[in-house]
Amino acid sequence: MAIGRFAPSPTGDLHLGNLRTAVLAWLFARSAGSAFLMRMEDLDRDAVRPEYYRRQLEDLAALGLDWDGPVVRQSDRHQRYDDAIDQLERQGAVYPCYCSRREIREAASAPHHGAMPDGAYPGTCRELTAAERAEREAAGRPGALRLRVDSAPGHALTITVHDRLAGPTECHVDDIVLRRGNGTPAYNLAVVVDDAAQGVQEVVRGDDLLSSTGRHLYLADRLGLPRPSHAHVPLVLNPEGVRLAKRDGAVTLTDRRDRGESPANVLSWLAHSLELCEADEPVTARDLIDRFDPARLPRRPWTLRAADLAPSRAVLD
Ligand code: GLU
Repeated sequence: MAIGRFAPSPTGDLHLGNLRTAVLAWLFARSAGSAFLMRMEDLDRDAVRPEYYRRQLEDLAALGLDWDGPVVRQSDRHQRYDDAIDQLERQGAVYPCYCSRREIREAASAPHHGAMPDGAYPGTCRELTAAERAEREAAGRPGALRLRVDSAPGHALTITVHDRLAGPTECHVDDIVLRRGNGTPAYNLAVVVDDAAQGVQEVVRGDDLLSSTGRHLYLADRLGLPRPSHAHVPLVLNPEGVRLAKRDGAVTLTDRRDRGESPANVLSWLAHSLELCEADEPVTARDLIDRFDPARLPRRPWTLRAADLAPSRAVLD
């Protein structure tokens, strides 16, 4: 049986964008007769809030989504990430990096930097000598660990991702962080290790992560893990055309209840945005399985209007 998954971070209530992606991930899996797993990406201890594990799952269940087996927490799986880093270390593919975000930004915008794409790590700490490393350690700089990608310093490698929705997409692969300076395993490592360990065959997630997917495929190859396939789904945008965020207004199921909308109303609204039902048509998540066809999914982001996000309907109607 094939396996899909949804992997939220329990840092707040899920908003309409997260919920729509969850519905899609579930529909991709269930319409293919696949298992559907739930994984909490809770490695960032500073951002995680304990109450949201439960609240996120309650909201997904309120929309009619279900999942198979126990909910996995990344915070229980540190050993797997350590093992993966050890494996890469044995390949000589790991090095410490002492750059701050600011230094990376500045190095990336320096005139000689031409060959690196925006946001890519330019390899500043790649060839530090032992003495230079010791100097930085002695200065108390926390060292992150980075993957040494097989490319000439200053040149990003490119991998083609065959995305089910976006089609073939060239993605740059730079020297990604494996472990952050504070000791936390990085998302880009954990996602690869977990998707493989859980047997995930198709990753469905927001298309803001498409550009990172080449890194994930590269890392899977380096770790000798199978590559999953991918479907990156369009995002939900606020009225300014920016990716939806909590501050944009009535975006969570709790906010929508305050507007007098039930989770069933929200599901119907999301399904309508996906062209799976008429406006306000009562549907259940199960009803959508037979109607779902990935090939007919809208490929553009869904942009909400200010009126959609007002706290109360009374203000509008
Ligand atoms: N935890 C990530 C998020 O909440 C999702 C990552 C993924 O699906 O690979 O945005």
